[in-house]
Amino acid sequence: MKPFDYYRAADLTEAATTHQPGSVFIAGGTNLVDLMKLQVMTPDRVIDIARLGLDRIEDDGDGLRIGALVSNSDLAGDPRVRKRWPVLSRALLAGASGQLRNKATTGGNLLQRTRCPYFQDLATPCNKRTPGSGCAAMGGELRNHAVLGTSAHCLALNPGDMAVALRALDAAVEFRDAQGIAQAHPIAGFHLPPGTTPDVETVLPPGALITSVALPAPQGDRQIYRKVRDRASYAFALVSVAAVLRLERGRIVHAALAFGGLGTVPWRDPAVDALLTGEAPSMALFDKAADLLLHPAQPREGTAFKLPLTRRLLRAVLEEATQ
Ligand code: SF4
Repeated sequence: MKPFDYYRAADLTEAATTHQPGSVFIAGGTNLVDLMKLQVMTPDRVIDIARLGLDRIEDDGDGLRIGALVSNSDLAGDPRVRKRWPVLSRALLAGASGQLRNKATTGGNLLQRTRCPYFQDLATPCNKRTPGSGCAAMGGELRNHAVLGTSAHCLALNPGDMAVALRALDAAVEFRDAQGIAQAHPIAGFHLPPGTTPDVETVLPPGALITSVALPAPQGDRQIYRKVRDRASYAFALVSVAAVLRLERGRIVHAALAFGGLGTVPWRDPAVDALLTGEAPSMALFDKAADLLLHPAQPREGTAFKLPLTRRLLRAVLEEATQ
């Protein structure tokens, strides 16, 4: 591991003023430390933000404000979350392992890096790790890669579960920029598709620090998170679906569907939600939703299996959610 300076910030102001080019913030460190050991990330300065007091979940009118340092375990187990936002609790529990969830934080989870094996292999070209070097995955072995939102420069998958549920719940990410000014951004558009700059993964400006996630009141009482993976636990999604629906008199009056394992960002297509809204549930309708969702997909050898898998999973989730 490359030597680095270590600072422990006492408050948000100190965290901001200590940050300089080449610095990273560390909270749980469950992803960052691995990448530092592999020398995929080689910061000059590591700023520990674990003691900033951002570890509370507060009622905020009808919703919740989740501190950036709330652990994934605490968030999944919070009685309010389990009762009103069960899709979030289930998505969290579907991620990683118990030990990792105890350390991993809400803010860090949003910023976790792709698990593309070429990104982690310094011997191969990777535009995300070294801009302009190429993409070994394009001619390499693919499985945990994206089929939606890809570019000619990168097709790395966003590996999140929590972020998929947050997309279906219309959460917002709150942060302080390097000047200490509080800002917020909807989770929609927070993660950026690779385009020509795969190394730029979110809208966060340099030096910004996530402080909390705002979770509005749920728009649907029928909530499901289902994840298909290669083994029963401690594995990333091949495909996952977060569904938040509400039905009235036999019709879908609110539909919010988000997907993991498919996109370079946590994926949600407003056209799919609109197609379902106002309709009576049926298998024909669910198939149309799958057609619409997968129409822009660009599968390759190694990822083509995701299309029929997504269709079956979406049908099953919608069938269960509308029963
Ligand atoms: Fe790197 Fe993206 Fe290509 Fe993977 S898919 S090797 S992360 S550029």
